[in-house]
Amino acid sequence: MKISNHLLVAEPGDLVTYDKSPNQAAGISPLYLVMHYTAGPTLDGAVSWFKNPEAQASSHLVIDRDGSIVQMVAFNRRAWHAGKSKWGNLDGMNQFSIGIELVNAGKLRKNSNDQWVTWSNKVIPATDVTIAKHKDESTEAGWHEYPQAQLEAACKVASLLHKTYNFTDVLGHEDVSPGRKVDPGPLFPMNSFRSIVLGRA
Ligand SMILES: [Zn+2]
Repeated sequence: MKISNHLLVAEPGDLVTYDKSPNQAAGISPLYLVMHYTAGPTLDGAVSWFKNPEAQASSHLVIDRDGSIVQMVAFNRRAWHAGKSKWGNLDGMNQFSIGIELVNAGKLRKNSNDQWVTWSNKVIPATDVTIAKHKDESTEAGWHEYPQAQLEAACKVASLLHKTYNFTDVLGHEDVSPGRKVDPGPLFPMNSFRSIVLGRA
């Protein structure tokens, strides 16, 4: 995999496709990488939402649970992933960041049959759920796990992006929109991911 003209280019064995989102705007200066989860269990659900003009939302990349990658916005264009957000004295992180969405149902709750379900009542198998406490919350909840193949693909593409755009840091949506967002959540290994991507072991 490489980056040419702000687009990912697949090399043999790479699962990379391009599916353009209409939800984008002109140029950005990508100083940060912002990590997200989609809050849904399927790639198709996330991609079709980001292709819907009514969503007013998008991301540069969406990474499926098997590690396959869909690019939806060129890296030098503004994707609409962070919404109301700030970091340091920067206001509106879409102008200053590349966004990666990981297909993950996020924070879950139990239904009346004692099954873990998403906000839209999709059942998530208990074997894919871990109970954890978010850093901004006071109680534990069930969270959808990130498969290893997905984390490895995210690490690989984020490292490639850092080589190209030389990020100042890697952040979570929860860091730039605290109180409003909890993604990528407590199961995303942010410390090790940041160290590997930025080469600061
Ligand atoms: Zn997010």
